[in-house]
Amino acid sequence: MDFRCVCGTHFSGFRRYSILKQMSQAPSVFARLLFKLGKTLSTFSRRVHYHEKELGESFHAFREQIRPNPLAANQNKALVASRAQQLLRLSDSIDDFKPTAIAFEQSIRWMQTTLPTTLLSITEHNICPVFSLRLTILQRRARNAWTLDCLRVSSYLVGLEDPSLEVQRMGELLRIRASKECWKGIAECNTAVEKAITAKTPAIEVELRLQQVQLSHLLDIALALGRGSAQLDTLLPTMTPEPASESVQKTVHICRRFPDTAGKFGGLVSKFVKFASEQRYDKDDTLQRCTSQLASLPQSCTYETRKTELTWGECVGGSVAVCELGGHPYSSEMSGCPECRRIKEVERVEEEARKAGECLFEERFLQAMKGLAK
Ligand SMILES: [Zn+2]
Ligand SMILES: [Zn+2]
Repeated sequence: MDFRCVCGTHFSGFRRYSILKQMSQAPSVFARLLFKLGKTLSTFSRRVHYHEKELGESFHAFREQIRPNPLAANQNKALVASRAQQLLRLSDSIDDFKPTAIAFEQSIRWMQTTLPTTLLSITEHNICPVFSLRLTILQRRARNAWTLDCLRVSSYLVGLEDPSLEVQRMGELLRIRASKECWKGIAECNTAVEKAITAKTPAIEVELRLQQVQLSHLLDIALALGRGSAQLDTLLPTMTPEPASESVQKTVHICRRFPDTAGKFGGLVSKFVKFASEQRYDKDDTLQRCTSQLASLPQSCTYETRKTELTWGECVGGSVAVCELGGHPYSSEMSGCPECRRIKEVERVEEEARKAGECLFEERFLQAMKGLAK
């Protein structure tokens, strides 16, 4: 690799810049880091999905195991504690991995400004912090699933009849924990949404906003669940978050503006709109109502939208390339930037639909229908 100053002078003649020779390894180091980031991202995505699903499926068996009597207090406690352990551990390991992604993004940016000649291919673009944002989404997904489960378990426990009130107390504690997590999560999403640039990462912004809306619905449900015993709610902050409806409206706009990327969330967004329009929190909210609301709360991702995360796992060797559209670093051996590649897919689908249309004998079909009508 040729190391030159911006003015064109060769560095090799200067002793003080001799260390720069070591930088010739930098492109391959970045490529290997990119490989690791991509693989880890897709692995985390799979694991979060697996544990989330498992939590929902094991709820029935969990309910059978809870025995509402004072003798089983310890056993019940252990059951509740072990329930979401794996999901929380996963959230912690995502948190541990985040600094690697942040360091990668910061170093690329540093290299661009300090040594513009080293990574020639990517000098012109602004690097987008796509990995750290994606990791935030994954961690949030895990924690949202945990919060939902806390409320689900809580609403079940509160309704049981334990003469020592131990089971009901446990349910109440879970509810408080869930509400606290909602507050924390709403603030976290706010920070992340500010970091995401709509034009560069529309899909990421939409998902973050949906996660936030999900949390504010969970918070509503948590507060509705605790109407009877509200004395503990004084522990919660008193401020109100940005109205969920406003955030949903923003996602509707983003989905329309970027049909190829954020547009994949269209179905989910309309589910959230529908869910919000059916929400009415009255004083006579029954436990059953809260439970049914918990069950009908829409997810913040689908297999279609998760595909982007999985595609990052296809990262192979090669060097670091940056997509022009959004400044996302990706491996030059991939067929395109995983964040923006979907544009091509959409075109292909349309092409296929057009071809399929040619094989439909529309006129003949209409004539046949007319014949039937007579
Ligand atoms: Zn110079
Ligand atoms: Zn891109």
